[in-house]
Amino acid sequence: MDSTGLTYTDRKVLVTAGAAGIGLAIATRFQELGAAVFVTDINEAAVESAQAAGFAAAVSDVSDEDQVRALMDTVAAELGGLDVLVNNAGIAGPTGPIETLDAAAWKTTFDVNIHGQFYCIKHALPMLRAAEDGAIVNLSSAAGRLGMAGRSPYSASKWAVVGLTKTLAIELGDDGIRVNAICPGAVNGPRINAVIEAKATMLGRPVAEVSDLYHRQSSLNRLVEASDIANMAVFLASGLARSVNGQAMAVDGNTEKLY
Ligand code: NAD
Repeated sequence: MDSTGLTYTDRKVLVTAGAAGIGLAIATRFQELGAAVFVTDINEAAVESAQAAGFAAAVSDVSDEDQVRALMDTVAAELGGLDVLVNNAGIAGPTGPIETLDAAAWKTTFDVNIHGQFYCIKHALPMLRAAEDGAIVNLSSAAGRLGMAGRSPYSASKWAVVGLTKTLAIELGDDGIRVNAICPGAVNGPRINAVIEAKATMLGRPVAEVSDLYHRQSSLNRLVEASDIANMAVFLASGLARSVNGQAMAVDGNTEKLY
């Protein structure tokens, strides 16, 4: 427990793509609050550093159903069950006008961003059903409630996350499992820098100018921090949110338009 009054003692949490970026911030926050946390990531070196930081961890690609099935067996063996699944894995996908996009890159974006969440939920469900007050938190995006020119596969896949979230909130309500999504705005970190550079190339404009647009798309005129997303995740999976279900929670400083 900390000043928020939240405690996750005796709670078991899995964070996908949890070895870096927003996922690592989420995993760290749950761990600080006393949870037993398992992280998985496709990046072997990142998994090793997560293990060194005290997390149970394994390499897996969420877009491969066989790997996800095996992952859930490992989680069951190592944690002895699961209370909270955080479906954080998601890739930026290609940037460009739709007629220039490569079909394989389009499909890969959906394989990770939405099919990965389907596989993880499907194979974690026996553990979540056995848990008391199971919770699923799916990472969508501000691009999952607004359009985003030049990022059609990303935006479409993140809208799909909201549809999955709202549908499963109904399907799993009888099991006492709550399902919510988080829609972050632009989050400070290496990934947003790469996204801004790709957008600047597409528009033929200076990186600094596009970076400024990204900062000003929030009413707070700044980027969101990964810790802001982690705080929403621990709230949504907690008893404080016991009646919050099927929601897509924006953590974006109020973003009305994406560049
Ligand atoms: P990131 O690009 O920094 O990646 C974090 C981790 O994901 C990396 O360690 C990577 O190895 C792992 N990963 C990639 N593909 C994977 C796969 N197939 N299986 C397992 N792990 C995989 O991402 P991030 O910025 O931390 O974003 C996390 C989530 O938040 C994503 O779903 C993303 O779409 C969403 N999001 C991010 C932002 C942002 O500004 N960064 C904004 C809105 C939403």
